[in-house]
Amino acid sequence: MTYDLVIVGGGVWGSAAAQAAARAGVHSMLLLESNIGLAQESSAKSGGILTDLLWHLEDQAFVSRSRELYGEAREQSGDVSVARKVGMLTLAEGEHVASLYGRIKDLRERGVPHELLDRPEIVRRFPRLDRLREDTVALWTPNDWHLNPTAYAQQATASARDLGLTLRTESHADAIRVEGGKVSVLAGDETYEGHRVLIAAGTWTRKLVRTAGLDLALLPYRVQLSSLELSEPHRLPMVWHLSTDVYMVPDGERDVLAGDGTRLSEFDPDDYQTSGDDQFEEEIAERLLMVSSLGERAGLRSSWAGLVGATPDRRPLVGRLADGLYVACGDQGIGVMRGPAIGELAAKVALGLAEAPHLRPDRFGGEPFEIRPGFTLD
Ligand SMILES: Cc1cc2nc3c(=O)[nH]c(=O)nc-3n(C[C@H](O)[C@H](O)[C@H](O)COP(=O)(O)OP(=O)(O)OC[C@H]3O[C@@H](n4cnc5c(N)ncnc54)[C@H](O)[C@@H]3O)c2cc1C
Repeated sequence: MTYDLVIVGGGVWGSAAAQAAARAGVHSMLLLESNIGLAQESSAKSGGILTDLLWHLEDQAFVSRSRELYGEAREQSGDVSVARKVGMLTLAEGEHVASLYGRIKDLRERGVPHELLDRPEIVRRFPRLDRLREDTVALWTPNDWHLNPTAYAQQATASARDLGLTLRTESHADAIRVEGGKVSVLAGDETYEGHRVLIAAGTWTRKLVRTAGLDLALLPYRVQLSSLELSEPHRLPMVWHLSTDVYMVPDGERDVLAGDGTRLSEFDPDDYQTSGDDQFEEEIAERLLMVSSLGERAGLRSSWAGLVGATPDRRPLVGRLADGLYVACGDQGIGVMRGPAIGELAAKVALGLAEAPHLRPDRFGGEPFEIRPGFTLD
């Protein structure tokens, strides 16, 4: 059997693509996922932040559309954890204040609710932020969300399955063949053919297309997160401290997820340290202390690392790579908040229902490039 569409990768991007294709009328569709369940790789390891504070205009549109799709999944599943309005406080001092001010005009023009707070006002609203420098200012964006990407992926694929999607978990695509206008996916003893094949395999996407003799400008880099138990219950929102580049996400009454630790060099998705570094574990509570005394007796519950994919211009790679073969990757560390929209776009491009020439995956010539972070205001 030849499917109309085969998708490889059941993270947020692949799941969103499956839902969008099903809604566009594709019912002969297969989704292959290596793991036992959906969205257990980078999508599950993420901090789950969705914010309007992004540096690129197109990303802001991706976030707006993703909000709609996350909101829909929350309603359909009845699972409020899919997307929770928590709000984010972005703190800046010294040279970083200018980057923060630089975003205000844009938020105003887009009608995004926001408030600029000085230090006394920050402390009045969030007394546990008791270690701030005198010159700290903050941007409060109350409509920012905390996401549960795994719950989203499950709901998106469930609705696609109602429309005919076949989901195969524990099915690892070993290789891709592009021959005579047909694309085949080799997975163990099985070969699946698709009129169109979309590879949304996160940071593995490059390895997979290389089996077909193709290549992509995609470099996986490593991002770390920790779960900290604080000394007492807190009422913190999501906090992003620009000067240390640490972000915190509330995780229950006493816990926060705290991250930074980005390692801007290339890692192999099949061979990297999936726990946090010793240095990261030692320093993360200390960095928290720069904004709150809650870090003083914070206990480390666990830490982990995942990979995210860099591209030369920090924009995603979405579109056709060869006849019948399409890709969606290059998340730049901010792929959960944009994933539903980018997955939807990728499906539409593969089906010929949309165009995104500026995101073409073959737009680079293979030159080496520097990995730069995506979760930044610059
Ligand atoms: C520590 C950390 C914190 C982060 N925090 C945030 C955040 O707060 N907000 C945000 O927006 N983003 C965040 N990100 C980034 C975000 O997690 C990613 O951008 C996003 O998960 C990318 O989704 P994806 O579907 O492309 O990739 P993935 O979730 O990795 O999905 C790819 C899927 O493809 C499958 N796969 C791979 N190869 C094959 C194969 N050969 N055959 C079959 N299946 C295959 C994998 O098993 C996986 O399920 C964070 C990332 C990390 C690591």
